[in-house]
Amino acid sequence: MIRFLIILALVVITNLVLTAIRRFGNKAKYIRYEHHGCKVWVNKYLKGRHRKYCLCFSCGEFKPGDRDRNCPIANQLYQACVDYNIVTPVWECPNFDNIT
Ligand code: SF4
Repeated sequence: MIRFLIILALVVITNLVLTAIRRFGNKAKYIRYEHHGCKVWVNKYLKGRHRKYCLCFSCGEFKPGDRDRNCPIANQLYQACVDYNIVTPVWECPNFDNIT
């Protein structure tokens, strides 16, 4: 009986520790910093990696700084980023023109 109670206690303690690690580990993964004059939240592992993952930076349609020739989707996304102080990489796109 004592053996069963010890095992049960170990299971309960292990679950409590794992729950605490998950809860506090997730909180620790988000940080706040100032981006273009606005305090924003970001997953610290993804901060500054937008260009690495965004399809646009490997796409022939992407002409940042040239609004007339730039992809209209990219123009709209950029405007949303400016308006709402967000960063939105493109993960999937039907018009992707691979230049790499
Ligand atoms: S076509 Fe797609 S991948 Fe290319 S610039 Fe436009 S939104 Fe980005």
